[in-house]
Amino acid sequence: MGLEAALPVDSFLTTQINKVINWSRRSALWPMPFATACCGFELMATATSRYDLARFGAEVFRFSPRQADLLIVAGRISIKMLPVLQRIYLQMTEPKWVISMGACASTGGVFDTYAVVQGIDQFMPVDVYVPGCPPRPETLIEGIMSIQRIIDREGIKDTSERGKGMGLVVQPTVQLGIANGE
Ligand code: SF4
Repeated sequence: MGLEAALPVDSFLTTQINKVINWSRRSALWPMPFATACCGFELMATATSRYDLARFGAEVFRFSPRQADLLIVAGRISIKMLPVLQRIYLQMTEPKWVISMGACASTGGVFDTYAVVQGIDQFMPVDVYVPGCPPRPETLIEGIMSIQRIIDREGIKDTSERGKGMGLVVQPTVQLGIANGE
């Protein structure tokens, strides 16, 4: 009887501890930027005071893959560059996530040539696609928040458990002022 009574308390404690762990993980994503072209400037803008990525706990950009858990690929990837990107991905610690930022990283963009990778998801799991050419910082922030929501909901899982990446697509942000002709 005593053991049966103790079980709900145990599971309650485990649930609460998991919630705290998930909350701390999602509030401290450390991005590894892999910026090769124009999208990189929007990535940099996201970290500035105007967009203030620090509000979401993801502003600590790391240039060492072993200290990062969120790879943001911004810009086109040439075939020659691909082994470097793959090595960086492999060197990152688990659990880790990948954002493909912009048309070039996700599809090759307008660079439909033999020298440019036509989508990084052919070579690594991609969790979130951020559309645009280039995407605005708000769209990238929405992509990061999508990953945070999934960590909140599903907890922390290794890439091997998550399979080939989540493959979410973020809706492009609308510039209301332009859309309304203001
Ligand atoms: S998607 Fe557009 S802005 Fe981004 S790297 Fe390609 S050409 Fe440049």
